[in-house]
Amino acid sequence: MKKMEFTCIVCPRGCQLNAEEIDGAIQVSGNSCARGKEYGVSELLNPVRNATFNMRIEGSSKKIVAVKTTQPMPVSSILEIAKKIKRVKLKAPLKEGDIVCEDTLGIRLMVTSDISIG
Ligand code: SF4
Repeated sequence: MKKMEFTCIVCPRGCQLNAEEIDGAIQVSGNSCARGKEYGVSELLNPVRNATFNMRIEGSSKKIVAVKTTQPMPVSSILEIAKKIKRVKLKAPLKEGDIVCEDTLGIRLMVTSDISIG
């Protein structure tokens, strides 16, 4: 049986949610709206987050660049992705918005700033 207490981050109101799996059904309480219920179910079953990573660069005076996910990814995959991209070196030049990695899970990483050669 899964059970969690957490703050809803969907809007600034920050309701305190309780989510619990009872006999295969998810019960959410403490929410003030339907979006909070949806968030509570998602957090209990498959929490997702936007994530930012640093990637190494070659061909530029800058040695690293921040990349971020283009959409929320499963929290359970963040460490795996971090390990995979640790081995990757990007090549300058790069433009903000370039997609530099696309995982088999559909996780896409986007460059957050321009990187010039030299
Ligand atoms: S439950 Fe609804 S009102 Fe409360 S924080 Fe979440 S989105 Fe906002």
